[in-house]
Amino acid sequence: MSPEQEVAKRRTFAIISHPDAGKTTITEKVLLHGALIQKAGTVKGKKSGQHAKSDWMEMEKERGISVTTSVMQFPYADCLVNLLDTPGHEDFSEDTYRTLTAVDSCLMVIDAAKGVEARTIKLMEVTRLRDTPIITFMNKLDRDVRDPIELMDEVEEVLNIACAPITWPIGMGKSFKGVYNLLEDTVILYSTGQGSVIQEERHIEGIDNPDLDAAIGDYAAELRDEIELVRGASHDFDLDLFLAGELTPVYWGTALGNFGVDHMLEGLTQWAPAPQSRATDVRTVEAADTRFTGFVFKIQANMDPNHRDRVAFMRIVSGRYEKGMKMRHVRLGKDVRIADAVTFVAGDRAQVEDAWAGDIIGLHNHGTIQIGDTFTAGEALKFTGIPNFAPELFKRIRLKDPLKTKQLQKGLVQLAEEGAVQVFRPLRNNDLIVGAVGALQFDVVVHRLRTEYKVEALYESINVATARWVMADSERELEKFRDKAYDNLALDGANNLTYIAPTMVNLQLAIERHPEVRFLAIREN
Ligand code: GDP
Repeated sequence: MSPEQEVAKRRTFAIISHPDAGKTTITEKVLLHGALIQKAGTVKGKKSGQHAKSDWMEMEKERGISVTTSVMQFPYADCLVNLLDTPGHEDFSEDTYRTLTAVDSCLMVIDAAKGVEARTIKLMEVTRLRDTPIITFMNKLDRDVRDPIELMDEVEEVLNIACAPITWPIGMGKSFKGVYNLLEDTVILYSTGQGSVIQEERHIEGIDNPDLDAAIGDYAAELRDEIELVRGASHDFDLDLFLAGELTPVYWGTALGNFGVDHMLEGLTQWAPAPQSRATDVRTVEAADTRFTGFVFKIQANMDPNHRDRVAFMRIVSGRYEKGMKMRHVRLGKDVRIADAVTFVAGDRAQVEDAWAGDIIGLHNHGTIQIGDTFTAGEALKFTGIPNFAPELFKRIRLKDPLKTKQLQKGLVQLAEEGAVQVFRPLRNNDLIVGAVGALQFDVVVHRLRTEYKVEALYESINVATARWVMADSERELEKFRDKAYDNLALDGANNLTYIAPTMVNLQLAIERHPEVRFLAIREN
């Protein structure tokens, strides 16, 4: 197969959804269809429904399992699909955001009983930064859900994206009969009790087909009326608008009943973009470029309890990875030979022989790789757009045993490198302030400091409302600002100057007083 063909058949996507909308269940069914697992239901243990903290501990225990779902590659239709998992726990995570920089499209899953929920809104904001194409799956049609037209209106209004229904549901809850495919003029009938297998679907061609009346009775006439209405009131599918992130094809079904997920996969493989270009500080790198490039979007520690290693997840942007190849670690200006990159197909860490643009590979990291690092075939360029988010929660971290300051600092810097947490050191004192986007991160950090760095640490509350990275057009201006705002400034884990605001009002005043300084809530590596 030519390099162009290798790239053209790849589809790299992630699922965005609010917790409990059905992401895990859909992932299971996607893998079932991708023939990775025989019987759906083996991706993750049943949720305990307990507090998020125990969820994380459990995740830690089940790491072997949850990690295999970090990146899943499987064939579908004529494509090779990469599904990138986003962290599953209740907490809000920066990892999720960064994972979204490594995909070319997203599947948005909505619980049709609930509609658009908070996390989905936030994640959609992130996909907007790159106009990522979005496919929508309305889930849980086997329950009594909200009116389908109202749901689409809500998506259009709240998320500001046009909806083009590809399928349309017939009934819901106990009387969910299946879906009508508006493009193909076909009804696909749903049968219950087949959630764990690939169903043999019954198709009825043509909405006016009398077979339909025989199959679903009065629902047939209702469907005909409704479809007329839907066709008049909704958008037609338009590939260009989809690719521009302005219109989403919408599918309906039930992940639990394994109905509709394959319809969505058909759409995804047919329409979602092949690996896309990515911007660097020097030029735009096209996926078809034969020179190897890639960037690291995630670092995960202790994936294998037997090897205390850390794995850096790299998205290949162009060219080909071959086992044993040499790559340039651009930030360090060093060439490294990579013989043991890993992938996570079907539950085992398999060694990758080769991989192409759009694929994700895992590099063993012994502390030299950071989130945002670029690797190339020798060229000095750096991928841009891998975000760090200003934390919203802050605590002072303190040692139980003051003699272990070195370990604490080392641990925090490494955890900050991974993106597990952010660390700020005020200019005016020796405090260590931990900043997080979600509360769960605090627990994770103390737990990991104890188990991995043998440091007992505890938190104290601190009067910080928010933080902003600060930049100015010239060093001189930044120096001046540094003197004036000294008491509010700190350095983050990578020594970037940060404004630490005790209140939002304080931040507002600082912004007004210093128009020469930019206060950034998102920083790109
Ligand atoms: P996640 O938090 O988004 O990963 O959601 P899960 O996949 O864990 O699903 C949350 C809950 O919704 C679980 O109890 C699932 O069994 C249930 N669920 C998922 N899909 C469906 C569906 O299509 N119908 C029904 N009735 N329940 C579903």
